[in-house]
Amino acid sequence: MNLVLLGPPGCGKGTQATRLKERFGIVHLSTGDMLRAEVAAGTEVGRVVDGLMRAGALVPDELIIGIAASHFDDAEVRRGFLLDGFPRTVPQAEALDSILGDRGITLDHVISIDVEDEAMVERITGRFTCGKCGEGYHDTFKLPKVAGVCDVCGSTEFVRRKDDTAETVRRRLTAYRNQTQPLFDYYDAKGLLRHVDGMKDIDAVSRGMFEALATQVGA
Ligand code: ADP
Ligand code: ADP
Ligand code: ZN
Repeated sequence: MNLVLLGPPGCGKGTQATRLKERFGIVHLSTGDMLRAEVAAGTEVGRVVDGLMRAGALVPDELIIGIAASHFDDAEVRRGFLLDGFPRTVPQAEALDSILGDRGITLDHVISIDVEDEAMVERITGRFTCGKCGEGYHDTFKLPKVAGVCDVCGSTEFVRRKDDTAETVRRRLTAYRNQTQPLFDYYDAKGLLRHVDGMKDIDAVSRGMFEALATQVGA
C-alpha cells in the first residue's frame, strides 16, 4: 500500500502515520523528520533549511524533491510507504508522479485529515515528543501514562520543536493555504483523495482512517 497523508501542520499526520505504519507494515517517510535530522547533524542542507523552518516557510522545491527522491530505491520502501509532509506544492506532486512513474510505482490513496484552524493551533502549541524514540505527546490530549516517562521507551527526556510557536503556526498555515491546498484538486482529479474527520480524538481518527481505506480497498 502506497499512501500520502495530507493536512495542515498539527492535524495529526505524524500521530496517525505511526498507526498506519504498524497496521500495514509500510515505511513512514516524513520530510520534516528528514530535514530536522539534517539540521541536527549540522550538514550543509541543515544550515540552509534551519532558518526557513524556524520562520515557518517551506524549503525550496528542488531541495526537498532531491531528498525525497533518494528514498524510493530502498527495497523496504518499494514494498509500501506512507508519505507525511510531502508533497506540499504542485511542483512537488508533479515531481513525485515522475519519480514513481519512472520506477513503475503507483499511489493507492491520498488521505486528507480535515481539522479546523483553532484545533491546529492548539495541537501544535501543546505538542512535545520523546527525545529518544520520537513518540508524540500533547499537553492536554496525550500525556504519558506515568508523568514524565515515555510510554514506549521509558525515557525521561522530551523535546519541543523550535517552530511550534503560536506565531510560526500562523505563517505555516498561510504557507499551507497558498502552496499546499491546490493539491486537493490535483489528487481529487486523479480519484485518489479520501477525507477523514480529524476533529475527533486520536483513536477515533485512526478508526475513520482504517474505515476509509477498507471501503476504498473493497470498492
Ligand atoms: P508539520 O508536522 O507541522 O506539518 P513538518 O514536520 O512536516 O511539519 O515540516 C516542518 C517544516 O519543514 C515545514 O514548516 C517546512 O519548513 C519544512 N518542510 C517539510 N516538508 C517540506 C516539503 N515537502 N516542502 C517544503 N518544506 C518542507
Ligand atoms: P502533524 O504531524 O500533522 O504536524 P502531529 O501528529 O504531530 O501532527 O500532532 C500534533 C499534536 O496534536 C501532537 O501533540 C499530537 O499528540 C496531538 N494530536 C494528534 N491528533 C490529535 C487528535 N485527533 N486530537 C487531539 N490531539 C491530537
Ligand atoms: Zn520514547
